[in-house]
Amino acid sequence: MTKVQPRERRRLSELASYSILDTAPEELYEQIVRLAARVTNCPVAVISFMDRDRQWIKAAVNLPYRETTREVSFCRYVIADPNRTMIVPDTHLDDRFQAHPLVTGEPHVRAYAAIPLRTPAGLAIGSLCVVDTQARPFTPDDLEPLEMLAQQLCAHLEARRTAARLQRDADTRKPAPAPRRDIDTSTGLPSRKLFLERLERTVRVTGAMPACALLAIEVDRTRYLRDGAGPAEWERLIASLAPRLRGCLRDQDTLTRLFDDTFFAVINDIERAPGVAGEISRALDVPLSVGAVALDGKHKNADDAIQQANVALRVAQEHGAGHVIFFDPQRHGALRDRYVLYRELRAAMPLRSVPLVYQPIVHLRTNEVHSEEALLRWIRPNGNAVSPETLVAAAEGADLMPQLGEAILRSACRRHKSLQSTRRLSVNISPRQFGVAGFEHTVFNILDAEGLSPRALTLEITETTMMNSDAAVIGSLNALRAAGVRIEIDDFGAGFSSLGRLSHFPFDALKIDRSFISGDAPLARRCAIIEATVALAHRLGLEVIAEGIETEEHLRMAAGLGCDLGQGYYFGRPA
Ligand code: C2E
Ligand code: MG
Ligand code: MG
Repeated sequence: MTKVQPRERRRLSELASYSILDTAPEELYEQIVRLAARVTNCPVAVISFMDRDRQWIKAAVNLPYRETTREVSFCRYVIADPNRTMIVPDTHLDDRFQAHPLVTGEPHVRAYAAIPLRTPAGLAIGSLCVVDTQARPFTPDDLEPLEMLAQQLCAHLEARRTAARLQRDADTRKPAPAPRRDIDTSTGLPSRKLFLERLERTVRVTGAMPACALLAIEVDRTRYLRDGAGPAEWERLIASLAPRLRGCLRDQDTLTRLFDDTFFAVINDIERAPGVAGEISRALDVPLSVGAVALDGKHKNADDAIQQANVALRVAQEHGAGHVIFFDPQRHGALRDRYVLYRELRAAMPLRSVPLVYQPIVHLRTNEVHSEEALLRWIRPNGNAVSPETLVAAAEGADLMPQLGEAILRSACRRHKSLQSTRRLSVNISPRQFGVAGFEHTVFNILDAEGLSPRALTLEITETTMMNSDAAVIGSLNALRAAGVRIEIDDFGAGFSSLGRLSHFPFDALKIDRSFISGDAPLARRCAIIEATVALAHRLGLEVIAEGIETEEHLRMAAGLGCDLGQGYYFGRPA
């Protein structure tokens, strides 16, 4: 680490006395940068302060980041000479900046003018600067107003320093210091808020600097340990980890306890991250897993980075305790998408209504519409559609399927009632809904509330769900059927069950999977299977529905093989 020269030490202590670093945005500063950009006709204007190793940006127009390293900052040249305005009319002609990353890359600095922010002691703590992406001279008409703004800014900073000193004096006279809000009392680590602010800044830093890393550290077999320990002992155990984890880190790293039993650390040099993670997982006598992610300037915000670290952590845990896994967008992308979807779903709960489309199911002999199937059409907050299968899988994974399923049923019933439709309404039911005890009561309650007869409703259950169901589920199905609800087996033939085994279960109709109507298998085989299925189903008193009828040929085939009903794009797309 470089040694700090005495003058620089004084400058840093002056800077600290203003209590300005890492403060929230303030309108006055925003106004000054807006004015500076306007009076000089520059696209970019910045107020920044030079900390020991970083340039911290208090306010800026058109600058995507809030911090840079000291190395890459232009400001370091400005503060070196507190009495002079720094003017660079064309960075391409200046040896210091020709190959500079902020010149060759974003934000493509071409012309630069900066006024040092000088303290009464004559030290420069930061600068007010403007940047243009075109080479240009800076005239007195540009520089005079800029200097006036810088003077106003310095006057304000002095007032602020006085206020901060008075506050400090008042604080020291107080009998007992208030507990520090930036420290977590149980672990003595920086508070969650402070950590998130630090992470947010780190994530936003761009430029040529060694990337940092974010680690998510979690105690394994949590439930087993926690239940064995009891809440107080558990709390003590987790708190006792804090100093030991801290001991594996360097001063520049930041550690916090972000969730109940999950610690997060920012390691300020990615090269050290694997070593630190390994040391952590070895040094402590409780089983830990570590998920890591490189903070390489590619994250949208702190949340984004935390999410990736969490995904890596889950993958590490799947490998068993003591593993360290780095997030890999290629390998873990799908898992991450699922977490994002979980969160969106959770945020959307409780659902009042669910977006559904409807597709007709038609009598093959008469062409009359028999019923309509409700199909889920979920649009994510980012405007993209997600397939119903993906959404249902996510809802099942997040334990939200009973709620989502109820909302679907309620929405579909409400619409059906409002249309006063004489057709049946078909609704798909996930195994997670069937699994819930008393499922039939939920259905009856919804029908009752929406004023719909059980005779108007069909529930579709996939073949695999039916095969895996137990006596309680059969009880529910019997109760529903007794009241008039029709039960159909969906996607029949796609799983591994046989009609022989399924015949033990109570249901009214079979929907033959669309792979038999328009699949890749030879036509003769598909026809033979459909024919045999229809024959057996009819012998058992079941109706048969052909899914996926897209063409007149499909229709002729399904009708010719004896299917009773059909569904597919030929009759109508879901709408
Ligand atoms: P499913 O219940 O077998 O629904 C029929 C699927 O086939 C629908 O896809 C429909 O759009 C599609 N389809 C209909 N006719 C044709 C055709 O002629 N050709 C082709 N290629 N496809 C056709 P979708 O809407 O994407 O739904 C897929 C699956 O997602 C459904 O299969 C169902 O298992 C599930 N799903 C949809 N909505 C819900 C829901 O509200 N709850 C539950 N639990 N699952 C749902
Ligand atoms: Mg269906
Ligand atoms: Mg189906």
